Amino acid sequence: TEQTLVLIKPDGVARGLVGEIITRIERKGLKIAALKLVNVSEEVAVVHYAEHAERPFFGSLIEFITSGPVVAAVLEGERAIAAFRQIAGGTDPVEKAVPGSIRGDYALETQFNLVHGSDSPESAKREIDIWFPGFAH
Ligand code: ATP
Repeated sequence: TEQTLVLIKPDGVARGLVGEIITRIERKGLKIAALKLVNVSEEVAVVHYAEHAERPFFGSLIEFITSGPVVAAVLEGERAIAAFRQIAGGTDPVEKAVPGSIRGDYALETQFNLVHGSDSPESAKREIDIWFPGFAH
């Protein structure tokens, strides 16, 4: 079955939404195969978001993602990558994420959009290797 790497970003942890988000993941039917609370180093943040290095928001994104602990998880299931992105909602929590999605229900600003999920099998493998070395299959 497919694997995806999910982060509950510092805003989600700080706002006490970890339980709510994990509940939605479990209700969807996705399996939590690995889970941990981590303080993110700048090195890990920069590697994780390497594809955004040239974007204007990169500096503030790195500052945000290292601002407090995140919850990192590997989810498994049939079409896990698309399934998590469906329950997360679009990147912009107001213009793109629909009500009923995690971002649509709980977020206001694009940067502070609560969760990350891998966007392709290649990204999932790369990201699982960063957060859970040796765990990708
Ligand atoms: P993620 O990769 O975290 O799942 P995504 O794939 O929906 O999010 P990306 O376009 O890959 O969105 O952007 C990565 C992250 O960078 C976003 O989740 C958001 O936190 C931040 N971000 C994206 N666009 C902006 C923006 N215009 N201004 C501020 N932050 C942004």
